[in-house]
Amino acid sequence: MVQTQKKDKSNNDSEIKGKKINEINNENTNIVNTKQNKQNKVMSKVIKNIGIPITNPPKNVCNDPKCPYHGSLKVRKKTYEGLVISDKMDKTVTVRWQRLVKIKKYERYEKRYSKVKAHNPPCINAKLGDYVRIAETRPLSKTKHFVVIEILKSNENK
Ligand SMILES: [Zn+2]
Repeated sequence: MVQTQKKDKSNNDSEIKGKKINEINNENTNIVNTKQNKQNKVMSKVIKNIGIPITNPPKNVCNDPKCPYHGSLKVRKKTYEGLVISDKMDKTVTVRWQRLVKIKKYERYEKRYSKVKAHNPPCINAKLGDYVRIAETRPLSKTKHFVVIEILKSNENK
């Protein structure tokens, strides 16, 4: 608020003086640039580097301590990609993905499914039908030891 008031004052001065308008405009643009740089720095500090390369970092901010970006949760190297088949639980989703197991006798592959529960931080908020990437973490509850780290394909965009 204080900075905006200063800007208004400088604009009024420029109207009064008339000659130094260009100089003052340059100063204003400089101020705006420094503000943007500060915001970028803040954003880079807010989103923590979790050690896994990610294409869609979360746009929202949350206060969840079990969030890998804004909390203190560490993720492990193992990641999987799968479909959210349930989002009815609080901050938890069920993720399922397909894998192939070779049957030696018939020399063919059999489809099998893996289904795990994963923590769903409020900043990511994955929903039913989303295609997500999950990473292994410490056990968060009796049946949860994965966390959603990004949404690869949202169901709403289709
Ligand atoms: Zn978060």
